[in-house]
Amino acid sequence: MTNPADLTLAELRDALKDKKLSALEATDAYLARIEKAGKLNAFITVTADRARDAARACDARLAKGEGGPLEGVPLGVKDLFCTEGVLTTAASHILDGFKPPYESMVSGNLWRDGAVMLGKLNMDEFAMGSSNETSFYGPVINPWRRAGDEAALTPGGSSGGSSAATAARLCAATIGTDTGGSIRQPAALTGTVGVKPTYGRCSRWGIVAFASSLDQAGPIARTSRDAAVMLRSMAGHDPKDSTSVDRPVPDYEAALGRSVKGLRIGVPKEYRVDGMPAEIETLWADGVQWMKDAGCEIVDISLPMTKYALPVYYIVAPAEASSNLARYDGVKYGHRAKEFDDILSMYENTRAEGFGDEVKRRILIGTYVLSAGYYDAYYLRAQKVRKKIFDEFAGAFEKVDLILTPSAPSAAFALGEKTADPVQMYLNDVFTVTGNLAGLPGASVPAGLDAQGLPLGLQLLAKPFDEEILFKGMYALEQAAGFTARPDEWWG
Ligand code: GLN
Repeated sequence: MTNPADLTLAELRDALKDKKLSALEATDAYLARIEKAGKLNAFITVTADRARDAARACDARLAKGEGGPLEGVPLGVKDLFCTEGVLTTAASHILDGFKPPYESMVSGNLWRDGAVMLGKLNMDEFAMGSSNETSFYGPVINPWRRAGDEAALTPGGSSGGSSAATAARLCAATIGTDTGGSIRQPAALTGTVGVKPTYGRCSRWGIVAFASSLDQAGPIARTSRDAAVMLRSMAGHDPKDSTSVDRPVPDYEAALGRSVKGLRIGVPKEYRVDGMPAEIETLWADGVQWMKDAGCEIVDISLPMTKYALPVYYIVAPAEASSNLARYDGVKYGHRAKEFDDILSMYENTRAEGFGDEVKRRILIGTYVLSAGYYDAYYLRAQKVRKKIFDEFAGAFEKVDLILTPSAPSAAFALGEKTADPVQMYLNDVFTVTGNLAGLPGASVPAGLDAQGLPLGLQLLAKPFDEEILFKGMYALEQAAGFTARPDEWWG
């Protein structure tokens, strides 16, 4: 029999329902792969016993013909989601030993639907980063390598454990979060499918907050079908998150394969950035041609505010982060400095020891742009430009149904290559931050390999709550690209 880990999530779901294999067999197959993949450093915590217990309970339900839409499917969870009684670190030293007394709404929705948790996935500290190198637990290694080269590459970030674990088939699928690109960029760098839904589609309740007006949860999966199945379970209204939207959740899987004929695809000229490899340009042109061949109408559009997106993001996101991270003070949970003289030095020493350099940089920037005298010049102005970016997209979406761009300006890069210059690192998100600032749903689909054999992704953006059209477009791209490459299993 084939290894259950070689089945897509949708195939595994069907095989479990048809009793072709058991949830325990599937779970054991994944746990065995996780055990052999230590070199990838994708997991912070593996919950093997809990997974086997959950799988047995799934098998009991499946035997009676019962169970939810994800019954028995083994998944991995970014360590930013609170999981009841299970260590949740946000990959930060400051959350040492934190076992939340409650479950995040999104992960809880997956367990409600029968999924099995394999463990908690590594990430950039507090989701700040694009390469997984800011994790207190060390970087995740991309399962992909350049042809004939053993250099360790980044799986992207901040959801790098989620992307690597999906690409290396350590989980049937995973969940991540995307504040500026942290689902789509790692998906692009690992040949996986990543979806950031519309802001408000998934509840943020129980997700360790980074920048609350930008954060959204979403799946990283092997195929658009798998991502559609995942998102349907994850999404939904939650009265505990006032920004979650009370709208019915469509059957995204049913949208796959529906004709894209007549869809208008916008191609924004401002997404052609300096220094982007010619191969990404070519892939983008291929993507345009594929959509045309599928019967879409291609529309050249202009989004001149794009150039302000990164500067605006690096004011708004740190501002919100500086406020959200004020709660880590060593009093209620997590790390507390051993040496201090008074309460103030306890706070200071705890935060100095507990946060890594990138997190400190964000807190400093955020505090600066919010401080009296600078608030109007930075924060308020950034909010105004953010509104203009939103309006510009709204105008574009009067003319088009989807926007097609590259997902990231480069393929996976080597660890250490961009750590010296934060701005170089921030540029990774040049194509993705716009979607967060405007609250749009977006996805990255693997579309090809570069000359060194590394995966490249294409991004689609849609109107708020148009995820069904997004999935239609993703499926069309996926069919045309025919991406079937897999990394060589050098790790174990
Ligand atoms: N790379 C971006 C940052 O560092 C986005 C991160 C994210 O989406 N969580 O802020």
